Amino acid sequence: MRRKVLDRIEFADGTHSLRLCENEHHHHHLACTKCHRVVELDFCLDPARIEAIGRQQSWSIAGHSITLFGLCNECRKQARALTPRP
Ligand SMILES: [Zn+2]
Ligand SMILES: [Zn+2]
Ligand SMILES: [Zn+2]
Repeated sequence: MRRKVLDRIEFADGTHSLRLCENEHHHHHLACTKCHRVVELDFCLDPARIEAIGRQQSWSIAGHSITLFGLCNECRKQARALTPRP
């Protein structure tokens, strides 16, 4: 049975959304700043770098959350359609 995990996605504009993730493993998100669509990234971003930061700062890092922001493919299409071509 798959366990669903409630994840909190913080958007760059200060809003957030709670999301039930199908993915029970540690993972990250891509979030669209326009339509707030969220895409699951089924892998960890640079765990070696995160460990290195912990060592540098003499912290024991217990976890992290990384969300990448941008315009999704649909919003990019829309933005392109709205931009008048010369
Ligand atoms: Zn997720
Ligand atoms: Zn979008
Ligand atoms: Zn990670």
